[in-house]
Formats: sequence, C-alpha cells, structure tokens
Amino acid sequence: MAIKFLKQDQLPAFLGYLAEKARVVAPVKTDGVVQFEPWTAGKDVELDVLLAKQSPKEWVFPQTETYLKFQYSTVVPEQSDEGEDAAEGAVPHEMIEVESLNEAPTQVIFGLRPCDARGFVQMDQVFGGYGGFYFDPLYNARRAATTLLAVTCRDPRSTCFCAALDGGPAGTEGVDALFTQVDGGFTAEPLTEKGETALGFSGFADATDAQTSQADSVKSEAVTKVDAPFTLEGIRDNLHDNIEDKGWHDLCMRCISCGTCTYVCPSCYCFSINDELVEAKGERYRVWDNCFNPLYTEETSGHNPRAQKSNRFRNRFSHKFWYYPDKYDSLLCSGCGRCIMHCPTRIDIREVLQVMGSPRAAASGEPTEAEGKEA
Ligand code: SF4
Ligand code: SF4
Repeated sequence: MAIKFLKQDQLPAFLGYLAEKARVVAPVKTDGVVQFEPWTAGKDVELDVLLAKQSPKEWVFPQTETYLKFQYSTVVPEQSDEGEDAAEGAVPHEMIEVESLNEAPTQVIFGLRPCDARGFVQMDQVFGGYGGFYFDPLYNARRAATTLLAVTCRDPRSTCFCAALDGGPAGTEGVDALFTQVDGGFTAEPLTEKGETALGFSGFADATDAQTSQADSVKSEAVTKVDAPFTLEGIRDNLHDNIEDKGWHDLCMRCISCGTCTYVCPSCYCFSINDELVEAKGERYRVWDNCFNPLYTEETSGHNPRAQKSNRFRNRFSHKFWYYPDKYDSLLCSGCGRCIMHCPTRIDIREVLQVMGSPRAAASGEPTEAEGKEA
C-alpha cells in the first residue's frame, strides 16, 4: 500500500475527518498528565511525551464496565372472584429481568505507540483465545470496532526495551497504519484495510522519496536507542527451574503490592466480577484486578495457593515469560517500560528477568523466618 504524507498543520483536520464517523481517542496533556482521551476540535495531541501514563487498553477493556442490569420483582398470581388462585397451585414467586449491555462504538485510537498496539494483540489471544473457546463478547466487539493508528517512537526512553522482545519503536504488530514524524509532518503507512480506510482523508499526499527515506532513517536510528538488557533465550526454562529459588523473596522485598505495574501495563488483563444490588435493582460489572492482591487467588475455603508475597510477585513475571508463552506461543509483555516508570519502589522488570531468568544455583529448602513472615 502506498505511503502517504500529512502536513503537521493538517493533523487537526485529519482528526476532525475521522471524528465525523468515529470516536477519536488520542494522547492529550491535562493538568500536566498525558492520557488517552476523546479528542475534540481544539485539543492538542501530545506526541512529544513518549508514553501516556496509562496505555490505551482502557478504551477496549475498560477499568470498570457494567455488562448486566437486573431487577427482581414478586409476582402475585391473580385471584378469582371467590378469592381462589386463578391457576391451581400458583403461589407468589420471584421473577428476575436481565438486560445485557455491550457498547462498542466505532473508534480510532491515534498516537498510541507500537508497544501499545502489541499489547492489544497479546490480549486478543486471551479474550478470543483457543479458537474462540474463551470468546469474550465485550472485548471483541470493541476490538472489532477499533482502528489503531500508531506513531513511531523517535526518541525511546531509557526504560524502553521493546527491541529485546522482538518488537521495536516502529513495530507494526497490531497496527492499522503507522505514522512517522519527519520534517514538516508525518509519513503514514497503511498496513490493513482499516488503516487504508482511515487514511481516506483528502489532505494526504503521496510521500516523496525523500520523505520515505527520512522516515526509514528515523526508524533505524530509533532502534539503536532502545535498551537491550537481555536476550530471550533460556528465560522461560530458567524461570521454570528457579521456581523455588530464594531470589524471589529477595527481589520482592521492596514491592508494596500496590498493583500499579499491572494497571499501567498494556497487556495485563485480569479482572474480577462483582454484583451491586440496591433494594430490588442491581448491576453486574467487571473491574480490573491484579495478581499482587492477596485476595486474588484466595479460595472460598480460606486456602490461598499464593499466600506469600514472593509467590504473587513470581507469578507476574512467570505469567508473562513462561505460562502465557507456553499457552499462546508469544510473550505477554511488549517492553513498554511503564511498569518501571511508575513502580513507586522502582522495581525493574529487566532486573528481575536478568536475575531470575538466568541459571542459578538451586536454593530451595525450608523458608527462612523472614519468608515465613511475608504477607
Ligand atoms: S510488563 Fe511492564 S514493560 Fe512489559 S508490557 Fe507490561 S508495563 Fe510494559
Ligand atoms: S508497581 Fe512495584 S510495588 Fe507496586 S505491585 Fe508492582 S512491583 Fe510491586
């Protein structure tokens, strides 16, 4: 598909064109924080700050979503003139009316990064995984209605490590069209039919050879700026072999189980389901959960298979680089580095993988007194 060029000053007109047919979501700075939010005319898209604080996953997998409304009522059978039930044996009984909700507006997410788009691909496997066996109608309806227009990362941050995970600052996995900032504007490469449709705006011109070659240089220079702290080779097997290693205990000591790393992650997808009932009316909703929460795996009996903090800490990294890869033949991490940036105690996933994803002398045995006191 032909590469196009959009002048910088045409960006608002392009977004306005998209907004005529769809909700447009883009990174915008509000009160000093860059977040993905619905774009309207007059809002400036923030592309200089490399990563919005939150990934855009909440626009496909909302933090809280009500998907059922229900209402109880008591049905009293009609009485005949003689005061007997109209239907023999009929007794007052309870009825429940249920209404299912699934809002999936057509939307375009502009300005996400290749690692954010890759996060969606990783979640796709779970919510539509195993050939549809676990097909999730809420997620998949929104995903089908969403177009992803990503922007190449010109200046990766020190916390980025996408290149170590077979991705890159101009990665195209999950991306419908890739924009790259060059002199005077953007080159735009449609990569899917959705992307081609989104680029139907008349303000695009065909990119010149000079613009295309400048975009290629931006991409190749960006790759050289990405941290490559480890190779993936052996990580899965070493995590497996180190499952009982005391290193997990040492590494988790700084963790305060706040769950921030899971909430900002573009590929963490765990949720819990709750009902709220006020008198006879209620709602069922799902809300993001996190595997650092001690209640996350607690069973009704009170037994918790991950009772220690080190067990829960180990789970997060093992899930992303061992359990999920075993199931889906890909990683559950795109190397965006958000968990590193926002962890209040500066726990660095790269360090954890370097330590626990490497061969270690087996150090199993009885837990120490300190391990026994972890909670
Ligand atoms: S685990 Fe961390 S680096 Fe990996 S995708 Fe999630 S937030 Fe980004
Ligand atoms: S953000 Fe840091 S402190 Fe909070 S749960 Fe994650 S690793 Fe632990």
